[in-house]
Amino acid sequence: MKKPNRLMLFMAGGALFGLAVLALVFSAHPGYAQQDTLTPPMPMPTPPPTVPALPPQPDQVLSGVVPGLPQGMMLVEGDILIKTSDFTRRYNIPGSNAPQGTYEVNTWTNGLVPYEFDANVTAVNRTAMQDAMEWWEDVAAVSFAQCTNNVCSGDFVHIQSGAGNNSAIGRAGGRQIINIISWGNTAIMAHELGHTLGLEHEQNRPNRNSFVTINTNNICKATDPSCTGGFCFDNATPPGRIDCDFNFNLISTASTYGPYDFDSVMHYNRTAFSRNGSDTITVLPPNNTAWQDAIGQRTHLSAGDKNVVGCMYARANWRWVSTTANPGTPFGTCTQPYTLMSVGLTNTPEQGTLWIEPGTYWEIGSFTRPMTLKAPNGTVTIGN
Ligand SMILES: [Zn+2]
Repeated sequence: MKKPNRLMLFMAGGALFGLAVLALVFSAHPGYAQQDTLTPPMPMPTPPPTVPALPPQPDQVLSGVVPGLPQGMMLVEGDILIKTSDFTRRYNIPGSNAPQGTYEVNTWTNGLVPYEFDANVTAVNRTAMQDAMEWWEDVAAVSFAQCTNNVCSGDFVHIQSGAGNNSAIGRAGGRQIINIISWGNTAIMAHELGHTLGLEHEQNRPNRNSFVTINTNNICKATDPSCTGGFCFDNATPPGRIDCDFNFNLISTASTYGPYDFDSVMHYNRTAFSRNGSDTITVLPPNNTAWQDAIGQRTHLSAGDKNVVGCMYARANWRWVSTTANPGTPFGTCTQPYTLMSVGLTNTPEQGTLWIEPGTYWEIGSFTRPMTLKAPNGTVTIGN
């Protein structure tokens, strides 16, 4: 009797050049996340005479209707632009029957994102933004394309210098705006572009309560005279202060790919929307030691960030295989993967990449076609 022939290999990011034999491993992943329950924004009992002057905000600090936003738009979760009419739907406020979680499936056809720069963006800042675009273009079938003569029509992104950093989520239709103030931080711009591509904030993904706790008592409230993490406003005219809690509502209908990703560039930091500097997000054991201080990084795309955008915007020669049964016909795509390794290996083009989801695969054979085997989300065992 032959001994089981199994091999496991651990690689963080998990790509392997070669052919078929074994196995790979693990890495992290993010997800597009979403949100849900929330108390409807209540108007202030006494109308606030004025909206407090707001300092320029780097990221994740403001929410609500703030000066300088286009008519009919509001800011949520610090840096996401939505139509004010979508607020109730987005946060699943009781009484709303509208569907939720629609933005993140509004991806850009063929990964093509047309854009133009506002005249207020300097040449240096344009180049900086294009560097951030390349971060995503390097890892998936995404291409940001500046329109001819810098004038777009149809669905496109208008990039301007603003009082903060923010973006709509996914393809919103027509002209959508990206505001940037942090031109010197490529990762912050990549974060906003992540929203543009369809990513939600990582800590709002449906299963986040298994990984972090939101400390509601530390979140900035409407009645707080000052808040270290920024204020929040409703969509009334003039805007009134509201509790910032809704920014942490999990988005139950969001799609996700891969494990919870503490390293995601789309994750909030520990004191986001804090009223007093105390943590609003506590990482649960056993991940707290490694991640409590590290969540909210704005220096790089995580392995998970790259994987989820790879799932959303797959290159032509990428295929997926998963032992988990998926309803419907398998097409070898991220959402409809093949279920058999042999089928995945046969259908991945030469020089292509086969993304292998965690599990044990028993089909061993000889394969000579060069391709990359990638195990992005956990341990893969191939044996016989
Ligand atoms: Zn954001």
